[in-house]
Amino acid sequence: MSDLPLIPHWINGTEHHTTGTNTAPVYNPATGEHTRNVTLATESDINTAITAAATAFPTWRDTSLARRQAIIFRFRELLTTRKNELAHIITHEHGKVLSDAAGEIGRGLEIVDLACGFPHFLKGDHTINASTGIDVHSLKQPLGVVGIISPFNFPAMVPMWFFPLAIAAGNTVILKPSEKDPSAANWLAALWKEAGLPDGVFNVLHGDKTAVDGLLNSPVVQSISFVGSTPIAKYIYETAAKTGKRVQALGGAKNHMLVLPDADLDHAADQAINAGYGSAGERCMAISVILAVETIADDLTAKIKDRIQQLRIGDGTNKHEPDLGPLITAAHRDKVASYIDIAENDGARIVVDGRDVTPDAGGEGFFLGPTLLDEVPTTSRAYTEEIFGPVLSIVRVKSYQEGVDLINSGQFGNGTAIFTNDGRAARRFETEVEVGMIGINVPIPVPVGYYSFGGWKNSLFGDAKAYGVQGFDFFTRQKAVTSRWPDPAADPEGINLGFPANT
Ligand code: NAD
Repeated sequence: MSDLPLIPHWINGTEHHTTGTNTAPVYNPATGEHTRNVTLATESDINTAITAAATAFPTWRDTSLARRQAIIFRFRELLTTRKNELAHIITHEHGKVLSDAAGEIGRGLEIVDLACGFPHFLKGDHTINASTGIDVHSLKQPLGVVGIISPFNFPAMVPMWFFPLAIAAGNTVILKPSEKDPSAANWLAALWKEAGLPDGVFNVLHGDKTAVDGLLNSPVVQSISFVGSTPIAKYIYETAAKTGKRVQALGGAKNHMLVLPDADLDHAADQAINAGYGSAGERCMAISVILAVETIADDLTAKIKDRIQQLRIGDGTNKHEPDLGPLITAAHRDKVASYIDIAENDGARIVVDGRDVTPDAGGEGFFLGPTLLDEVPTTSRAYTEEIFGPVLSIVRVKSYQEGVDLINSGQFGNGTAIFTNDGRAARRFETEVEVGMIGINVPIPVPVGYYSFGGWKNSLFGDAKAYGVQGFDFFTRQKAVTSRWPDPAADPEGINLGFPANT
């Protein structure tokens, strides 16, 4: 065993140290230093987490809404006050710059805000006299133990898409975070405890496929909310469905930004930089392809190239914060870089090559500089596959229609954006494009908390998107109750407690 600190599970309101020996390394991606290990769940750890969540469920389900609401408000207050601590944890393990880490917490807090008003979403309907003397009402109840499995790229925000609503609705939670940046989850768990959440309502189970399969195959776990790559999302969806669970599985993306000739090109170039290279391109809503109409393609490419030269790359904790940090691991950096080779071999033109980067960081961090590829063939794997790094491809199109057809022919349908000053084109775009989240002169159209987040096609398996009203619906089951209370005054004989006679 190494002497490095070991990150334990968080079960039943406290750290849970496994008796198993399997661990995964956790790095500081900016320096390449192996800083800790994270424990990987054994069968026994999985059972302990499930038992804790199942035991806590009946009491939490029956806890008054007023008490639940007070705990969620307290959690919100604590998180708002201490979010810088969490931002540092994220930057040290993920590599994104501190302001970006704070930004992800802010977007997660939106869902906590939404959860604070949860009693409104738990209200049922009531109909009087559906038939004479017969009333009907509906009620919403929690599911029970729910599983959340999250990716490395948003170690705080993505879990927060789900757990505030799940907890508010009366469920108990087992979060299986990414093993690449696991510490944020434990920090959030300790914060819940401080906010007064009863033990066992929020648990963190660290691990790999064994932990995920343990949740998928448990008859106690009622639902799975997954976010990650498309092949795993599909596996989660199929396996969870086989065991009769409710499932929402959000997958990968390849988001296009269509720039029409009438767009403000300086604005479009600024937004392309932000959406293509922010968080080193490791965002599921990052723009990875720019569809530039031929008449403006040269101009737009030149403007993006100019802006790339001004970007600063380095350790996200540097005093003068850089614009972007490293990638999550050396293996991922090499995989992203391999797409630059693929594009080049397939005939693309490299306008800016990020493989030559000199970052402002000590050590051997996992850096790749912002890369701009032009005239990328749409048959190249660099175009058809998700890259998930700071590589922006330009594809030149003849018309609006060619752009829309390309977007609609892809396997993903997460996000897309159009840049134009023509309202008619924008209006057509939002109805014609087969994508779940659309930006009009907005490059990263992540919906606010009270709308729901989710894509189409291979970007989402299942029927419910994350958060918003769909989030509450996902974490509750409805009943419809039909009732008749005969009016004694209407019965000349009054209340009759006798055995029903066959007259
Ligand atoms: P990933 O699919 O490798 O991992 C996601 C989760 O699944 C992790 O918790 C991981 O431990 C687990 N996992 C990995 N392999 C598994 C296996 N074989 N069986 C069971 N579980 C397994 O994804 P990642 O690399 O952590 O995250 C990046 C991906 O997530 C990208 O594809 C990105 O587009 C996607 N993503 C999508 C959204 C969205 O909203 N659609 C949001 C964020 C990230």
